[in-house]
Amino acid sequence: MENWRLKIARAAVFNSTVALTLALSLATSGSVTAQDGSAWLEAYRLPAARLIGEATSDTFAWRRLTVLTDSIGARLSGSAQLDRAIEWAVAEMRRDGLENVHTEPVTVPRWVRGSESADLVEPARQPVVMLGLGNSIGTTPDGVQAELLIVRSFNDLTANAQKVPGRIVLFNVDYTAYEETVAYRSDGPSRAARLGAVATLVRSVGPPGLRTPHTGALQYASDAPQIPAAAIATEDADRLQRMAERGLRLVVRLKMEAHFEADVESANVVGELRGRERPDEVVVVGGHLDSWDVGTGASDDGGGCIVTWEALRIMKKLNLRPRRTIRVVLWTNEENGTRGGIAYRDRHRSELSKHVLMLESDNGVARPLGFGFSGSEPARQTLRLVAGLLRGIGADAMMSGGGGADTSPSVREGRIPSLSLVVDDSKYFLVHHTHADTPDKIDPLEMAKCAAAVAVMAYVVADMPERLQ
Ligand SMILES: [Zn+2]
Repeated sequence: MENWRLKIARAAVFNSTVALTLALSLATSGSVTAQDGSAWLEAYRLPAARLIGEATSDTFAWRRLTVLTDSIGARLSGSAQLDRAIEWAVAEMRRDGLENVHTEPVTVPRWVRGSESADLVEPARQPVVMLGLGNSIGTTPDGVQAELLIVRSFNDLTANAQKVPGRIVLFNVDYTAYEETVAYRSDGPSRAARLGAVATLVRSVGPPGLRTPHTGALQYASDAPQIPAAAIATEDADRLQRMAERGLRLVVRLKMEAHFEADVESANVVGELRGRERPDEVVVVGGHLDSWDVGTGASDDGGGCIVTWEALRIMKKLNLRPRRTIRVVLWTNEENGTRGGIAYRDRHRSELSKHVLMLESDNGVARPLGFGFSGSEPARQTLRLVAGLLRGIGADAMMSGGGGADTSPSVREGRIPSLSLVVDDSKYFLVHHTHADTPDKIDPLEMAKCAAAVAVMAYVVADMPERLQ
């Protein structure tokens, strides 16, 4: 990592470069944009330059993230730390001068990991580096001990179905892309249980790290017995695979205290910048405040919370009050229930038609590339033009696939255009859902650019004369 002084110096240089770039484009681009019906955009070049300049001229966002992650820590649903984070966010939003700051109650599950371990007991006793999967049941206090069956895919599981009863099944599936490989974590336990497995291990869903297991939620199917399930480090999966290929009989003992306790009260945190002309029309931005119980939830998703919240803080500081309301929502319980997103939809059902756009940042806060979008073609065209204001920071791409887990219940029901912040995620899945998800992995300047991207997008959509279609 670079040292601090260097980073701050880079930020300052960067800031003046961006301001200059935008000033130049302001002077030269009028005739080009007027031809494609985007003359209205000209009015936003200066506010966009100011928002970018303010966001990237200091490391406020990253420092705020370190307070959340270092001083409060991991924030699993139902935990005292998540309650503390909610109280802290409310107090800080008020201190920023945001309006209508409040919490909206959400009942959330409380899953508790307890202590846990996995050991190879035959042919030689050795620990296996593991993390229980979220929502898993536990084992008996003695643990579950059984011969291991390693499969490389669901097809491989089916082909070996007769060997499964009484075994612990390890899904040793190479990581390709998160959306693909995650099926083994979420569905693997029930698929193995249906065939008679007594427990499931899954190769961590992520690229090989330094013997770092990745947790994450499983989903028990209603028609399968529930069996305990854990992720193991990629190195441990490889080691077990090598031993099996040498013809060794492998026996594993898994011990987990994981269990659910009674549901508890949590909350989404809401703050606003009220619109000056059409306050009932709303642009929602946000990230999820809950995290897994390992690491400190910096990339997933403390960073997403802070950069979306920053958008409002910066506007307030610059005295930019848009025509419509911008609302930041820090969602609760994304990781193991999505009840925050569902509760928001239910509570705001009658106002969903007034939601102009919903934006979620839940892909980390590394170098921003642009946005994923879901919605109508006219809206996509408009947002593509707005994203053009972010060319100076390289965040002007408009891709398909908007939204996020928390916004999707409202987006689906209200047919609301939706965006996701898209960043360079080449390092994200190394630390995702691990003990290594701490703020030192995040570059303060790239994080500031994420805040700038969200701020410009939210401001222009909330302020532009015609409502986004
Ligand atoms: Zn997340």
